Amino acid sequence: MADQHPPITVTFLGTGTSIGVPVITCTCSVCCSSDPHDKRFRSSVMIETAGHTYVIDCGPDFRIQMLREKVTNLNAVIFTHEHRDHIAGLDDVRAFNYVLNKKIDIYGTKRMLSAIQTEFPYIFAESSRYLGAPKLNIHHITEKPFQINGITFTPIQAMHEHLPIHGYRIGDFSYVTDANFIEEAEIEKMRGSKVVVLNALRKSRHPSHFCIDEAVEVLVKLAPEQAYLTHMSHFIGLHEEVNVSLPPFIKLAYDGLKITI
Ligand SMILES: [Zn+2]
Ligand SMILES: [Zn+2]
Ligand SMILES: [Zn+2]
Repeated sequence: MADQHPPITVTFLGTGTSIGVPVITCTCSVCCSSDPHDKRFRSSVMIETAGHTYVIDCGPDFRIQMLREKVTNLNAVIFTHEHRDHIAGLDDVRAFNYVLNKKIDIYGTKRMLSAIQTEFPYIFAESSRYLGAPKLNIHHITEKPFQINGITFTPIQAMHEHLPIHGYRIGDFSYVTDANFIEEAEIEKMRGSKVVVLNALRKSRHPSHFCIDEAVEVLVKLAPEQAYLTHMSHFIGLHEEVNVSLPPFIKLAYDGLKITI
């Protein structure tokens, strides 16, 4: 069903829940693990395709994620929703303004972008704009597919408790985070993706996020070649132990994981 797409490289910039892993002050086995896979920045992915670079969300760890991956170009930030763990790094796109000498495109629904505007009033001030504020081009999107530089992004609508949010399908890659419910018709939009990423917070149920079993249920329905879980809390358990308990085509994502589709 996907139209012709050039190869897509996806880098998991962060795979942790809003508080990150390790959690400040926590002494649990996951937070104290020496396995680098158990250290998770706030969730975001970078998508590189056809010479362009996009990030889905830019949370509070955006700066260090860009440094870690030695990212030198950024074309756009596409938001899933307006929670702080997905937007807090917006100020740091300034570095790309300076280096690339251009505005950065940001994409979100009207509601998401107006919430972001409230969070960062100085960025969007019309008069007496602060010189050091990031320079952005704002693009309002709806539930309809949209194109950036000829690449189609298809929103996947999901519920995050009471908040409607977006995941995205790009070619044969689908990414949904912070969902606790996805309607059948929206699940179908992901069908045929070679790689599907869904959020899974922990083993037990939660009101606003899929737990492992709920995410696995959706993934088994879709049966992609490969699936990953993201947006994990320290309650998920140790990376190494959880990975072997999952169906063979499903793995926990980890920070720095890079895949090409
Ligand atoms: Zn989140
Ligand atoms: Zn912990
Ligand atoms: Zn959220």
